[in-house]
Amino acid sequence: MWVIDIRHWLNDEQTGPGAPQLKSKVAKLAEIITYATARDSDLVTGDPPKCWRRPNRKPCTGRLNIHFTEDDRIYWICPICDDDGIIDGWHGLIWDISDYNDEDRVVH
Ligand SMILES: [Zn+2]
Repeated sequence: MWVIDIRHWLNDEQTGPGAPQLKSKVAKLAEIITYATARDSDLVTGDPPKCWRRPNRKPCTGRLNIHFTEDDRIYWICPICDDDGIIDGWHGLIWDISDYNDEDRVVH
């Protein structure tokens, strides 16, 4: 299992990847954070993010099961390939929409 403190992968402003090679990883984690916090706030969300793994060099077709751990980290697991991990350090980042109130609510 991966345990990732996403802040270690971000730039100084904590708005994007800290290095070019982290771009796709940060984008995927951001997607997971947004999904988890939106659902937790009862905002409408679409399908869960797709799995990012490529077992046997083929894209995995799984959609991630995402939930919060008891210590408020975000856990994901793919039902197809069993890839799983935990995201820490996501509170207050631009992808954390759990602090949104009704006035700020944006529905895409
Ligand atoms: Zn998978």
